[in-house]
Amino acid sequence: MSDTEPGRIHVDLSGKTAIVTGASRGIGKAIAIALGSAGAKVACVARNKEKLDETVSEITSAGGAAEAFAIDVADAEAVPAFVEKLADDWESVDILVNNAGITRDTLLPRMSDDDWDSVISTNLRSVFLFSRAASGAMMRSKKGRIINISSTSGLAGNPAQTNYSASKAGVIGFTRTAARELASKRRHITVNAICPGFIATDMTAALKEAAGEDAIEKRIKEIVPLQRQGEAEEVADAVLFLASDSASYINGQVLTVDGGMTA
Ligand code: NDP
Repeated sequence: MSDTEPGRIHVDLSGKTAIVTGASRGIGKAIAIALGSAGAKVACVARNKEKLDETVSEITSAGGAAEAFAIDVADAEAVPAFVEKLADDWESVDILVNNAGITRDTLLPRMSDDDWDSVISTNLRSVFLFSRAASGAMMRSKKGRIINISSTSGLAGNPAQTNYSASKAGVIGFTRTAARELASKRRHITVNAICPGFIATDMTAALKEAAGEDAIEKRIKEIVPLQRQGEAEEVADAVLFLASDSASYINGQVLTVDGGMTA
């Protein structure tokens, strides 16, 4: 087994339901597949229905259960309506993974209102909309796991990412407060965040295209002690752990998955 091969963590989530936002590709797709193969029934959310259907068919062809829902995660009407209907139809929302995110990188003097608003809406407002709606269902069923995908850019500054850093730092603040609010002895709800570092997806491929592949590879070797990019499945493994019964006493924490970049 290579050190990046998926499936090193074995978790049983049978009988549980999960929502994964941004499940059409990248980290979210890997998370949806990991939760599906652990036995959870997965609601895969993103805008691109065709790509979502690909995620769903990967899960179902491996014997899991999943459905695709084409929704804009920043839509304040569509999100609560979707979560409430799903909680009725599927009888619970046990796991919520707020993963959908975008970048609109540019230096501050050149950042447009739209660059700012779209990143904050997609990356932060979505976390509020989904968590508010799902927390009602979780409180009713007296169990739940909310796992928010932040970023190492939410822990430390990153030039050209004031919008993105602010959104991801916001996700961490949201996580810590929601963890305190939703936790109680009877409710069994936890809220945690994961900060991925440099993970190979479309998002980082765009960065490589802009800066040049060699330059990015060189930079990774300089700043990441493990000297390589992470794989989406390595973030999914951390999600599986936080979603599992083994993480029942972990609440309000920020788990960094970055090869030691922020160590
Ligand atoms: P990708 O660009 O590969 O995928 C982003 C996902 O988010 C897609 O499924 C996309 O689906 C979805 N999405 C974007 N906007 C919306 C929207 N308005 N409504 C619904 N879905 C949306 O990104 P990654 O997989 O790399 O990133 C996933 C998460 O991890 C993000 O939150 C990102 O910030 C975070 N992260 C990533 C890192 C990395 O190195 N890759 C590092 C640190 C954090 P669609 O376009 O179909 O709507």
